[in-house]
Amino acid sequence: MAVKVRFAPSPTGSPHVGNLRTAIYDWLMAKHEGGEFLVRLEDTDRSPDRYSPESIADIEESLRYLGILPDSWWVSGGKDSPYIQSERLERYHKVIEELIGKGHAYKCFCTKERLELMRQRQQELGTPTGYDRRCRNLPPEDSARYESDNLPYVVRLAMPLEGICLLRDAVRGEIKYEYRLQDDQVLLKSDGFPTYFLAATVDDHLMEITHILRGEEWLGSAPKMIHLYDVLGWEQPVFAHLPIILGTDRKKLSKRHGATNFRWYMEEGYLPEALVNFLVLLGWSTGDENKELLTVSEIIERFTLQGITEHPAIFDYEKLKWMNGQYIRKSPSGRIVGLCIPYLVKAGLLSSPPTLEEMAYARRIIPLEQERMKTLSEVVDLVGFFFRKLDYPNGYDEKAVTKWFGVAHLKPLLEKEVVAFEALPVHPTRVATTGQTVGPGLFETLEALGKERTLERLRNVLNRTS
Ligand code: GLU
Repeated sequence: MAVKVRFAPSPTGSPHVGNLRTAIYDWLMAKHEGGEFLVRLEDTDRSPDRYSPESIADIEESLRYLGILPDSWWVSGGKDSPYIQSERLERYHKVIEELIGKGHAYKCFCTKERLELMRQRQQELGTPTGYDRRCRNLPPEDSARYESDNLPYVVRLAMPLEGICLLRDAVRGEIKYEYRLQDDQVLLKSDGFPTYFLAATVDDHLMEITHILRGEEWLGSAPKMIHLYDVLGWEQPVFAHLPIILGTDRKKLSKRHGATNFRWYMEEGYLPEALVNFLVLLGWSTGDENKELLTVSEIIERFTLQGITEHPAIFDYEKLKWMNGQYIRKSPSGRIVGLCIPYLVKAGLLSSPPTLEEMAYARRIIPLEQERMKTLSEVVDLVGFFFRKLDYPNGYDEKAVTKWFGVAHLKPLLEKEVVAFEALPVHPTRVATTGQTVGPGLFETLEALGKERTLERLRNVLNRTS
């Protein structure tokens, strides 16, 4: 059967780098296997802190930036449309009705207050927390009466009270769960929206997903999903839970370590190929630890689930920066110039839009610093002095001034320099140092020749001239 994978982000805010790693793995797997990659928006949690409509555009932009375009998603549609869960509610309701009809789910009318008291008591007694299943055996006439009285309710999944659930994970091998320890979790909330694991299971089935790649923080929902597949008689896809991402201190990656949201990396000027290369290595390896720089086609060629590691991945910002620097260095300078211009415009060093003259100047300057740039945004500091109007002592590095302008005879030295520069005849100097009239910029040429060779050539002409 052809591989079909999905990336299923929730629009809770700007995407986290960890989510994009999942998206990259999905995309790579589809590319490697000649399969299909779809992206589905999981927006059934409508609580204000979990639903941010603006982030939908962010998710789209991030995937476009990385160049991992889905075969189908809400942006372009596709045969499994719609790809937004809030537009698929009737499909979930139908399955929930079926589960209730077969006795695998039930309506629960317990109030928030009751659930809170129950939780408090469980905590006091030190017993496991979770729903006490009071409504699981509610007589049908009570249930009907509550409903006709318009009492709000949720629908819960009636988990088996005994038996073992077996998860065969492509990364972690076999994991067993005791069903009796699983909570009767909510499938349908009182606002009419399904919870994550019901909606995801229904969609994975309807969209014929063959492999579910997701972060290991979702492991806890696996037994409920497996139970749903069983009772609905659906074929279970392959699960692959991806290792957690930690900071270099081995604590869960968080803002403390640096930025975790992807937008920051786009804005700082991390190249897409560097991000793909770096993120793919967070939890996957080619087996060759010495080869860290991999082109996208090399990664596609080698990417399989067998290469995914179980142990936590370490997000090392310094390594990412280094890698980005390597990719900037390798890029054609025309590309880097183009990518750097917006940073210079934003910093006010170039007009918006830049004039033709400014563009020509930028094209000459930016490549001079390309080797040293680790992120594109560094261009502002690296080449700023070329553009800034210096007004001594304003705009001068104080330490440099103290160190180098303290020398005696600075004034006569500068005087000599001004005279020499004023008199510097460009064409004769070029001929004297290069033997010809055409060549790169005179100063770049002199710099490349170096002081010794330049002086030797000048002296040589001088000595042979009467
Ligand atoms: N909607 C989940 C999230 O926000 C996706 C989990 C999954 O991939 O199944 O990360």
